[in-house]
Amino acid sequence: MNAQLSWIINHLGEDRAAQRGAVVPPIYQTSMFCYRSVAELRAAVADEQNTPFYTRGNNPTVDLLRVKLAALEGAEDAILLASGSAAIAAAVIAHVGQGEHVISVRKPYTWTRNLLSELLSRFGVETSYVDGRELAAFEAALKPNTRMVLVETPNSMTFELQDLAAIADFARRHGLVSLCDNSYASPLNQSPLAFGIDLVAHSATKYLNGHSDALAGVVCGRREAIRRIFRGPYMALGAALSPHDAWLLLRGLRTLPLRLRHSAEAAARIAAALEGHPKIRKVYFPGSANDPQRELAARQMRGGSGMLSIEIDGDAAGVERFCDALEHFLLACSWGGHESLALPVCAFYQGGNYPADALVPQTLVRLSIGLEDAEVLCQDLLQALERV
Ligand SMILES: *Cc1c(COP(=O)(O)O)cnc(C)c1O
Repeated sequence: MNAQLSWIINHLGEDRAAQRGAVVPPIYQTSMFCYRSVAELRAAVADEQNTPFYTRGNNPTVDLLRVKLAALEGAEDAILLASGSAAIAAAVIAHVGQGEHVISVRKPYTWTRNLLSELLSRFGVETSYVDGRELAAFEAALKPNTRMVLVETPNSMTFELQDLAAIADFARRHGLVSLCDNSYASPLNQSPLAFGIDLVAHSATKYLNGHSDALAGVVCGRREAIRRIFRGPYMALGAALSPHDAWLLLRGLRTLPLRLRHSAEAAARIAAALEGHPKIRKVYFPGSANDPQRELAARQMRGGSGMLSIEIDGDAAGVERFCDALEHFLLACSWGGHESLALPVCAFYQGGNYPADALVPQTLVRLSIGLEDAEVLCQDLLQALERV
């Protein structure tokens, strides 16, 4: 762990002297804050984003997390929300208006796609989805009313990368706001703002918390952009993070570097062990020797994470037998926690009705590698593969 990272996680923003020497920050479990004079009250109302007045706007426990996450992303400021989906929605709604156009990577997280295609389309926002591996696809989708470009690198389920420096340059040339969902890489492995991206969003439910016990989201960026989110959708829609969940996040964050290192090493070992297995058609693991985008991964990422997917060489019944035989992986959604998970794509379709234009292979199983022993997980996968 580098010194700067260790300082941010352990010391930045902690005012222990003001809290009777408490090593762990208190939870300010209060919905509002009182003042002794009208003058003080007036001063608090004047800057609700930065002053404890009402917990939907500012709360000291949430604010400590805000300071740390902004620093981890190298951002001027950050804003915490009740989930990653709320964070992405607030960032988009703050920057895109009626009649404007968004260019998105073609396979973003499900509810990001729903936000754009189902919800914002009702308010006159149009979205083009592009193959994010090629900058030319973004160029080709550009329209006079394009306002925002939204990427997610590595991308959900199959982990394709998008070139952050090239996309930031494209956005700058055309006056667009760029947003990167950085949940998979985490701020430890990728810093989109350093490549010129305007906004970074996370599902903090995943690696940042890491304990599968709280939902949270964050957007990081320049002070004016965060203020724009605060004054608009954030306060109006009210998806604030609760002080108690912020406290859980602060606790989870203390061990982020250790957790991520263990999961990444275990995932690399598992990916290597499964590569070339007769029951596996393809292993999806960014940065691996077989990854056609490994040069880009080396250029914009500092390391891997605990996420990989495997495409089973078999049919849906074989995938089900494989998953049902796993003893050390839980069958569940989400990812990034202490426990290893398996999520088969086939679980999302009833009666084997796969859409013909599905972008994700139907026999794909996404694995989130947790904190268990890598060898135990590897042996479990190998024994379950015998059932395919
Ligand atoms: C889970 C996830 C989200 C949504 O976050 P929630 O905290 O579940 O609302 C957004 N982006 C990615 C890549 C995710 O995996």
